[in-house]
Amino acid sequence: MKLKYLGTAAAEGFPAVFCACETCKKARQAGGRNLRSRSQAILDDALLLDFPCDTYAHCLQYGIDLNAVRHLLITHIHKDHLYPTEFLYLQSAYSHPGDDYRLRVYGSVDVGELLGALPPAVGKHLDFVQVEPFAPFAVERYTVTALPARHSSPHPYIYQISDGQKTILYGHDTDLFPEQTWAYLTETGVRFDLVSLDCTEGAYEDLNYHGHMCLGRNVACRDRLRAENLIDADTRIVLNHFSHNGKSALYDDFRPQAEKNGFEVAYDGMEVVL
Ligand SMILES: [Zn+2]
Ligand SMILES: [Zn+2]
Ligand SMILES: [Zn+2]
Repeated sequence: MKLKYLGTAAAEGFPAVFCACETCKKARQAGGRNLRSRSQAILDDALLLDFPCDTYAHCLQYGIDLNAVRHLLITHIHKDHLYPTEFLYLQSAYSHPGDDYRLRVYGSVDVGELLGALPPAVGKHLDFVQVEPFAPFAVERYTVTALPARHSSPHPYIYQISDGQKTILYGHDTDLFPEQTWAYLTETGVRFDLVSLDCTEGAYEDLNYHGHMCLGRNVACRDRLRAENLIDADTRIVLNHFSHNGKSALYDDFRPQAEKNGFEVAYDGMEVVL
């Protein structure tokens, strides 16, 4: 299994699109891994995870032919994870995807509502599959399970994805998981090879709101995953989805603090091979 991070920022990008704060200035100066586009990943070059407005740029940068990608999992309907406007260019005035081109899009009822509002000439190329929590479904050779997240959209999911050999948890966007998600995970007794965790707020110990995580919550999440035997010493834990508003949020500043706690820090273009 190969998970490639195409974009690793929160909604506004990092540096944020119109921002003049010191962190964003430093990010622009330092460049490299300090520059983050909106959140997206692709599994084994075949299964796309989320569809932000930076999708097109990701395709150009990483040599992805969207016409060859037929499966898209949507975590939730915030615009940095689903940007339906781009689908308008499926219409024949803009693109010639082929009459039989279908992109199968999996997501909650919220996703279906947004896609349902697109013109019929777009809809004929999109096969929407409404996904219910705790109900595993097949996507090609993968078994995928949507799990409720703790986040500020109506029906946010994180995804458990297994190819029969390896299993990952794609945990974006979420706070510490809801109890029903913990209960499912412990009852099914899964063991993850990779856990990708929200770290929107960087090195803070805790936050005064719910919906995202910071380093302190990542540690709490890891400790519980360990206590419930859902991970072991070989599990890789990658922190992802960073905002310039987080503490020590710049990649260069944050990485040593994350590594001290046994975490890896995602960057645009990072590949995790399991
Ligand atoms: Zn997000
Ligand atoms: Zn900023
Ligand atoms: Zn979100």
